[in-house]
Amino acid sequence: MTRPGNSNHQPYQTVTGRRDRDPVTCGCCGREASGLGYADDRRPIMWICTQCPPIAQEVYRMSPKALSIFENNACLDAAKAVAMEQAETILSALFDAGITDLSAMTREQFEAVVATMTSNGSLSAIAQSTLLAFAESMRRQAEDGKAPF
Ligand SMILES: [Zn+2]
Repeated sequence: MTRPGNSNHQPYQTVTGRRDRDPVTCGCCGREASGLGYADDRRPIMWICTQCPPIAQEVYRMSPKALSIFENNACLDAAKAVAMEQAETILSALFDAGITDLSAMTREQFEAVVATMTSNGSLSAIAQSTLLAFAESMRRQAEDGKAPF
């Protein structure tokens, strides 16, 4: 582990672009970075969150192909974890707006439901639950230590 200083390293992209010049996102799970980082002599610092130090070395050394497979698995895991909750949230918003027949829904009604869900935070909650489930899956896969192929 290294703590970030005033290094002049260049940022570079991984599959999800998570190795940053500044600690913005965790290179392991995609959540907010903490100011901790991992690096070796050859490559820039990979910033990480407070939950990912145990898996940082493994993720750092992972090939882009392997990381892509982990990320794809995490997307599937996140979708499975939150699908029911998200469907219920969206259907509830539609019913609350008086929309019970989707085939009769107008574009304006749909946009009004989206605007309501944006203003009441339910769309943000959907995004957050998805990101948390993604991050959890990334950590679990790395902790399991299984090659993703
Ligand atoms: Zn993390």
